[in-house]
Amino acid sequence: MSDNTRKDLLQVIANDISLCTKCELHKERTNTVPGEGDERAKLVLLGEGPGAGEDQEGRPFIGRAGKLLTVMIERMGLKREDVYILNICKCRPPGNRTPEQHEVDACLPYLKMQLKVIDPKVVVAMGACATNALLGPGDSISKRRGGIYHIDVDSKEITVIPTFHPAYLLRNPAAKQNVAQDLALVNKLL
Ligand code: URA
Repeated sequence: MSDNTRKDLLQVIANDISLCTKCELHKERTNTVPGEGDERAKLVLLGEGPGAGEDQEGRPFIGRAGKLLTVMIERMGLKREDVYILNICKCRPPGNRTPEQHEVDACLPYLKMQLKVIDPKVVVAMGACATNALLGPGDSISKRRGGIYHIDVDSKEITVIPTFHPAYLLRNPAAKQNVAQDLALVNKLL
């Protein structure tokens, strides 16, 4: 697929998302947050859902957790613009609550379409919401991190590396060491 086709298809998906009313999260959103990045990226970083700032701007990870995410990406020797940043839910859950299962289920087809177009090698699932949405419910994130998982998106295999969410790292800085290990593993896989 050419870069322009990828860009166009991601724009079509973003337009669909902007019109989405599949769950009640659409009622309180200011903007949808489809995600952003390099459409040729081999690495996708996947969060949970937009917060207040992201809802205002229509862009993912622009607050404190986003600043930390940018630092994490740079420590991998990459720039934020080199990767693709996505969320499970494209609309802000009120009060930043965790998205409910039916909201995740409603939004997941958009993520699958985005992954099919971007065709990354590795998805870093940040936090329990992203990890459970991709791998299905299971062990806690502390047990799953450190492992290498594979999922099939439309007959394409994508490697999934679960790790802690940057918002968790803001509250528990000691876990940054674990995330550094997980991202070193990602660098090896890339
Ligand atoms: N947290 C997320 O999971 N996603 C964002 O876009 C911002 C904060």
